[in-house]
Amino acid sequence: MSNETFSLPSASRRGFLGSAAALAAGAACPLGAPALAKAPLSRTQPGYFYRFMLGTAEVTVVSDGPLPLGDPGASFLGVPKETVYGMLDASFLPKDNVVLEQNIPIVNFGDRLVMFDTGMGFSKAFGPTTGRLQKSLDEAGIKPSDIDDIVCSHAHIDHIGGICTADGKALFPNARIHISQIDFDFWTDESKLGSPLKAFIEHARANLLPVRDRIVFFKDQQEFLPGIQAIAAPGHTAGHHIFKVASGPSSFAFLGDLTHHAVLLTENPRLEFAYDSDPKQAVQSRVRLLTRLAEERTPVMSYHFAWPGFGNLAKAGDGFRYLPAPMQMLPG
Ligand SMILES: [Zn+2]
Repeated sequence: MSNETFSLPSASRRGFLGSAAALAAGAACPLGAPALAKAPLSRTQPGYFYRFMLGTAEVTVVSDGPLPLGDPGASFLGVPKETVYGMLDASFLPKDNVVLEQNIPIVNFGDRLVMFDTGMGFSKAFGPTTGRLQKSLDEAGIKPSDIDDIVCSHAHIDHIGGICTADGKALFPNARIHISQIDFDFWTDESKLGSPLKAFIEHARANLLPVRDRIVFFKDQQEFLPGIQAIAAPGHTAGHHIFKVASGPSSFAFLGDLTHHAVLLTENPRLEFAYDSDPKQAVQSRVRLLTRLAEERTPVMSYHFAWPGFGNLAKAGDGFRYLPAPMQMLPG
């Protein structure tokens, strides 16, 4: 195929641009010409879920909604702010507000339905766009009572927030909750209620204590559910874990908060994040585990990357490049 196939003749180009300009200016269509769009703008999206297959398991990613962090210069540290703004600008992303997603994969193994992390729930600490999990589940046709297990990467506000209502009612009545004991103990510790972590401690206590009798602690390297292995990734919190999720020969790594952003903490994994409990240790975990995943070519399911957060990581210079997987359009 020659290049000419791809270049519009200049007359057509002028015509196209001319029509677009006329439409933008609200010019009337030529007499007798049909209107170009008879439908009103819908201003809606389809349901906030996405499905793909992992071996014989079906994965449904649902969302708790976008989480805006605001000025990235206040959240991503260790380099001059201008470097952070420059990285965003080079990736065609806004410089004044970093918006994280909250991608929650639910894996149907055929005999068990396992959900990873739960969103902000009733907390509006990051504005009104979060707290959408129940609506997204409904759109995906998944009943909360069908969830058998909830796996939590750590006990931060945007990961354990969707487990209970504000008045302490369990939203997933049949689910066991899996988390590291280190994080459970740290973030439900009453003695920290007077510290700057107050909002995080309150939300962890509100979501975890009412279901304490259904909480199970996993250990580093343990396959605590069939096909699900915990891998310690400390630093973001002391008990932060990622998970290897496998069905037959297929697998992905659920990253939790190993990296929050496909550009900032991935292309430059040595950047520090303001919400890390131990930023230096977080950098070590991030570099070590992202290197391993890239070398193994293990796909990643990232909680905070752009929707739906499924793709691969490749080594690139001192960091990594995230390559989103093409959408898998299932029949039916
Ligand atoms: Zn998070």
